[in-house]
Amino acid sequence: MPADAVGATRVASVYVHAPFCVRRCFYCDFAVQVRRTGDADEWLRALKGELHVVRSEGLFELAHGLDSLYVGGGTPSVLGAQAMRGLAEVIGAGHLRSPELEWTAEANPESLTPEVARRWRAAGVNRLSIGVQSFHEGALRWMGRMHGPDGAVRATRTAREAGYDNLSVDLIFGLPAHLGRSWRDDLERALGLDVAHLSLYGLGVEPATPLGRSVAEGREPPVDEDAYREEFLLAAEMLVAAGYRHYEVSNFARPGAASRHNAVYWSGEPYLGLGNGAHSYAHPLRRWNHREWNAYRDATTAGLSPEEGREMLDADAIRLERLWLALRTDRGLPMRDWHDAPLRLVEGWKTRGLAVVADGLVRLTARGWLLLDRLAVELDATLSA
Ligand code: SF4
Repeated sequence: MPADAVGATRVASVYVHAPFCVRRCFYCDFAVQVRRTGDADEWLRALKGELHVVRSEGLFELAHGLDSLYVGGGTPSVLGAQAMRGLAEVIGAGHLRSPELEWTAEANPESLTPEVARRWRAAGVNRLSIGVQSFHEGALRWMGRMHGPDGAVRATRTAREAGYDNLSVDLIFGLPAHLGRSWRDDLERALGLDVAHLSLYGLGVEPATPLGRSVAEGREPPVDEDAYREEFLLAAEMLVAAGYRHYEVSNFARPGAASRHNAVYWSGEPYLGLGNGAHSYAHPLRRWNHREWNAYRDATTAGLSPEEGREMLDADAIRLERLWLALRTDRGLPMRDWHDAPLRLVEGWKTRGLAVVADGLVRLTARGWLLLDRLAVELDATLSA
């Protein structure tokens, strides 16, 4: 049901932000609170306050059995072994009973201890997303990561021993050449982990980060666009050859292991985001919470809404967003009732190796995904002309 209509929108997917990190990585501009240890009690109190506000607002209503719960960060694993059981109590065990529930939690190798892994599994977490980023010591140090080159192997072993068979690993590409990191080596070592899912992130230079300031002052080079493109294409080639499906711009999965939670973002279904900086969506409303942890916590623990802003998407924004989301995944975009101009545009993409057309759908290739934003805007302009 639309958020401007009477009644609440039922959501079956919930994102929960865990804001704490032991230190801030060189390139990171996420909503992060640097602390020596995470404070699970403070986090859970704030979330409980927010859920109370959400329930009293009547805009969102949690489905009886959630389909997906995703705990991201930040570094959720610094919250410790009891944090996920506490989260289950805050959300309500009744919402987490579905046997189909995909409950993902992010973890960094250095804080994914056997006890954390075991107790999270016992609480109901059944998918772990491990922040590996690289296996190269110099690159890990440059990024400010807390683990060393062996961290990924240790973390995946710890996770498997605790009973997880659905593991995802994050890797970062587009790092500066002066680090001497071999992307091919990192991909080979990641393949050696034999995980169900891989997510790739290209290094971005955000002005407000230490990396952004270093680039602005000439102490670090800007991202090398050619190397970025080549590394992305190399990853696509190697991972697909190894049996992964490149099912979304940044994501690769073994059969049946695509992230169900992320699919909700790409399909335009509603979702609820809890925690600082979290976004929620109930067509056509998008809203977001205070990004800064203290402001968020102070609001929710005082029984106030942590909402920082909202927008109602208009018809043009919805059309462009739907098109962009459909082009992000390998499900593709239906070409129903298209007139000549968009068909000619897509034909041009095909000729340049940016797209394939089959079964009445246009799907971008890895080369096309490198140009996703531009292609979506071009197509939208052509379709609405
Ligand atoms: S661990 Fe992740 S969220 Fe935390 S500072 Fe590093 S990149 Fe940011």
